Formats: sequence, structure tokens, C-alpha cells
Amino acid sequence: MKKLVLLLAMVSVFGLVSCKQGASVGTAAPKVLVLVDMQNDFIDGALGSEAAQAIVPAVVEKVKGWDGYIVATRDTHNPDYLDATLEGKLLPVAHCIKGGEGWEICPSVTAALEGKAYAGVVDKPTFGSLELPQLIASIPGFDESFVIELVGLDTDICVVSNALSLRMHFPNNPIEVDPACCAGTCPERHAAALETMKSCQITVK
Ligand SMILES: [Zn+2]
Repeated sequence: MKKLVLLLAMVSVFGLVSCKQGASVGTAAPKVLVLVDMQNDFIDGALGSEAAQAIVPAVVEKVKGWDGYIVATRDTHNPDYLDATLEGKLLPVAHCIKGGEGWEICPSVTAALEGKAYAGVVDKPTFGSLELPQLIASIPGFDESFVIELVGLDTDICVVSNALSLRMHFPNNPIEVDPACCAGTCPERHAAALETMKSCQITVK
């Protein structure tokens, strides 16, 4: 319980939007699972795809079986996304508008998270999260022995952005990505992003 209190305090310090925790607080293994943008709009919403829908069961099983810390990111835009952001000009598809159904993490993943301890959520206005490294670094007991694993959407945009950011912040931590729990904007870009991560000493499982 002490660790949970510490984490909740840390969440407050870094201004994270919300924090969920499950009913049980187990012994945390030295590893962190990062769920990247498992949101409705990237699965079956505005930017959804069959490939994204196909990984959801595997991500749910990953979360259910995870013995360690879990954090999640949410792509988060304001209603003026199309006019006010460069992303909106280059990708003119409104998505992940804060508070909307498309912005929410998909129901099955949300349900899986409810049973886990230490599930923090960071909202990010663009591909990579500036707060994510701070959140991970502030996990009680975090050191270079922690393995960081990333899963989620999309491999070639937000997964690779956050993976490379974490590689920069934590040069001595093992970082892994599970390709069976990721989907890209197309199969070729998914594969290319995995190759880029491999080049930066991120282990593709
Ligand atoms: Zn976006």
C-alpha cells in the first residue's frame, strides 16, 4: 500500500490526468508495460482498422497476465484539432477529441486494467509523451534493472515515437516491443517501424 500511495503522489506531482488502480496491490516485478493509445478511434473509430481490431484480444491477455507496473497513454486533441494543429492540417481526420467516446481506451482493455494495480494514464497532445518518461522514472524503486515493454497503436507513429523517447531517457534499460500487440498504419510501415526500433537496440519480441 505504501508504494501505491507513493505512486499516486507522483501522479499528482506530474499533473497526469487520471490514475486507476485495482483492488489488489501485488508484488511489483521489475518491469513496466506501456499501453500506447489503445483508444476506440484507433481501433474501430475515426482511424480504426482491421489490423488494430485484431490485436485487441492479445493486448487484453497481456494486461491480464502482467505482473508489474502498467501505464497507458491517450492521444488527446481539442475540438479545434483540424484548424489549430499541424497534425490536423497534415492528417485532417478529427480523432481522439478529449472527452469523446473515440478518445476513451477501448472497453475490453479498460476492463482488464481495472483488475491491475499501478495503472497510470497520461494524455498527450501529439505522438510522443513528454510526461511518460517522468512517470516511469518516478515508479518506486525504478532503476536500470526494469524492463520497459511497449504495445499498442500505431506501430509507425506513436509506438515508435514513445519507444525512441524512452530509449533516449533510459539508455541502460532493456526496452522491448511486442509486435503481436501492435498494429501500424499499414503492414509495411509496421514492419519498417519495428526495424527502426531494432536499430536503436529495442528488442522486438
Ligand atoms: Zn492524434
